[in-house]
Amino acid sequence: MTQIATNLQIDSARLWGTIHETAKFGGTPKGGVKRLTLGPEDKQVRDWFRAACEAAGCEVHVDALGSMFALRKGRDMSKPPIGLGSHLDTQPTGGKFDGVLGTLAALEVVRTLNDAGIETELPICIANWTNEEGSRFAPAMMASAAYVGDFTTDDILSRKDSAGVTVGEALDSIGYRGDVAVGTQKFTGFVELHIEQGPILEAEGKTIGVVDSGQGVLWYDGQITGFESHAGSTPMTLRRDALATLSEIVLAVERIASGFGPKAVGTIGEAVIASPSRNVIPGEIAFTVDMRSADAEIMDHLDKALTAAVAEIAAHRKVEVKLEKVWHKPPTHFDKALVDAVENAAQALGYSHRRITSGAGHDSCNLNTIMPAAMVFVPCKDGISHNELEDATQADCTAGANVLMHTVLALAGVATK
Ligand SMILES: [Zn+2]
Repeated sequence: MTQIATNLQIDSARLWGTIHETAKFGGTPKGGVKRLTLGPEDKQVRDWFRAACEAAGCEVHVDALGSMFALRKGRDMSKPPIGLGSHLDTQPTGGKFDGVLGTLAALEVVRTLNDAGIETELPICIANWTNEEGSRFAPAMMASAAYVGDFTTDDILSRKDSAGVTVGEALDSIGYRGDVAVGTQKFTGFVELHIEQGPILEAEGKTIGVVDSGQGVLWYDGQITGFESHAGSTPMTLRRDALATLSEIVLAVERIASGFGPKAVGTIGEAVIASPSRNVIPGEIAFTVDMRSADAEIMDHLDKALTAAVAEIAAHRKVEVKLEKVWHKPPTHFDKALVDAVENAAQALGYSHRRITSGAGHDSCNLNTIMPAAMVFVPCKDGISHNELEDATQADCTAGANVLMHTVLALAGVATK
């Protein structure tokens, strides 16, 4: 690391100011942010962000799915830039930090380099990815998924929100359907700063999470078919109760995931009784299962154990259970050289740190499938996110932005005059 490392720090007050200034776009009375992707508040923050990046000397362009790229030139323009950034959309009851921190810290990095008169060898480029959250349009992280080729641009443009508005219409309505084809903006590597969205860093009193992996995801749709009958006249021994069956499946998911200690999680988050009635034994139930691990072998075990448990429960309950796997996303293993660069930056800056797995999905997990990527985590209060109570300290946000800056400097290189 260069000598710059020990001296150069981002402007903490300026970063904190931009986080709070932009939080007014969609700000809620409880201190959170409601900024659904491609809505009017998203347009406001995008306009603000574009103006701020241009004022910082960047060239801003927008791709066909509305993702924004702000390029700061380097000495060697023959190579793609080092990317940094995150997202500016939020959940309906979101906070001020999820995604926002990583995007605005990237802007702060550029401003700091400008103030210090530092030219990098490679260019650097801030990204604001469209619809990371997935609450208005599915899937989550759709723009980065299209960027890496998991979906076509036309497929994503045709996705509809609950009111029937397509992504394409929403982009046009706020003027952010860009003229750059998705995937055109290449990167040499990508670094994303984000709040942890979990309790580990805070519990251990660590400032920086060096994210080396992300959990893989297994999603299932389940359907239980028992038999509806009279709640008063059907003896307990003769029932084929779909809800009692589901109860056993819920406990099985909990038991299977817990069997791997902290290395797996399992959740049944949706269950719908087809025709609920107080005095009818439930006969039809639809449910979902979400299981995750950062270890591919454990994911395999989760899959097999769930399938076996469901078959056994169905047999002894004498009901039919259909279980369909609808999504299998393998675990992410972030690029070793970039993870080391994040760790070196945290170490050189004197911040306490530990390696950590991301429990949530991020655009960088998608990007890592086609380019070297890594992430920096900072603690958030009580591990809470996707909630208006989401909070992080100015000191931790500053530390994260400093680690982001020095990681980017190490990767892009400082041009010698
Ligand atoms: Zn996020």
